[in-house]
Amino acid sequence: MNDLAIRSLSKSFGGVRAVNEVSFDIKRGEFLALIGPNGAGKSTCFNMINGQLASDSGEIWFEGTKLTGKKPREIWRLGIGRTFQVAATFNSMTVIENVQMALISHANQIYRLWRPAASLHRERALELLAQVGMRDAADRPSRELAYGDVKRVELAIALANDPRLLLMDEPTAGMAPKERNDLIALVKRLVIERGISVLFTEHSMDVVFAFADRIIVLARGRLIADGDAKTIRDNPQVREVYFGTGKTFSKSEASS
Ligand code: ADP
Ligand code: MG
Repeated sequence: MNDLAIRSLSKSFGGVRAVNEVSFDIKRGEFLALIGPNGAGKSTCFNMINGQLASDSGEIWFEGTKLTGKKPREIWRLGIGRTFQVAATFNSMTVIENVQMALISHANQIYRLWRPAASLHRERALELLAQVGMRDAADRPSRELAYGDVKRVELAIALANDPRLLLMDEPTAGMAPKERNDLIALVKRLVIERGISVLFTEHSMDVVFAFADRIIVLARGRLIADGDAKTIRDNPQVREVYFGTGKTFSKSEASS
């Protein structure tokens, strides 16, 4: 079954065709990497899926519901989450309070109730923090966290909304290689455990090839390849885009 179906999606900025007739699907439970050089149109795709940006033409469907034309909040409510929308208040709260706020916000969407943050959802918040390896840091001030740990808490916050599809545009930006690998490995584990689908961008080819179930490649707004790691590695057009003709991907030739 297709979770998400994108059909002939296009978006121009002035004369630039940022996304040009792009079509692809995401299946339920799939860990799908969207790669391509800087300016390829990856973020523009993400922003059309999450509703922040209106498309010029084309359609986006999620579980049989048409998303195109819907507002970000409606799309979020349908079960599409995204990471790294940290609230302005993040640093003023403890780790667990941040996750509890997300749980309350999610509950309000569904049940329209409100209770004090301190008591509510603590057990559930602790479970989420345990899933991202941050349970021991629950009562620490968020502002004291190391960068990689903030990313883990952000992931717990995204999961608090119980998304069925999670959008992650450059989740590991600014991270060291080892941290990148660990975060993506963690997300992959959660994808398998929870049966959610993830669309993500990642600069390290090593990480993409190691973890993605499938990879789609954008170049100058066009989708030029769609397949598993081997298919993408062997694709002449993809090699051309990344390295110029003839060269192949090898370890640590990371860039997107
Ligand atoms: P990527 O995420 O793959 O690096 P983007 O989707 O951010 O690429 O950008 C695709 C193209 O669209 C680039 O040429 C970029 O300069 C242009 N672009 C993106 N957002 C805007 C915007 N808000 N206004 C004008 N041009 C934009
Ligand atoms: Mg981008």
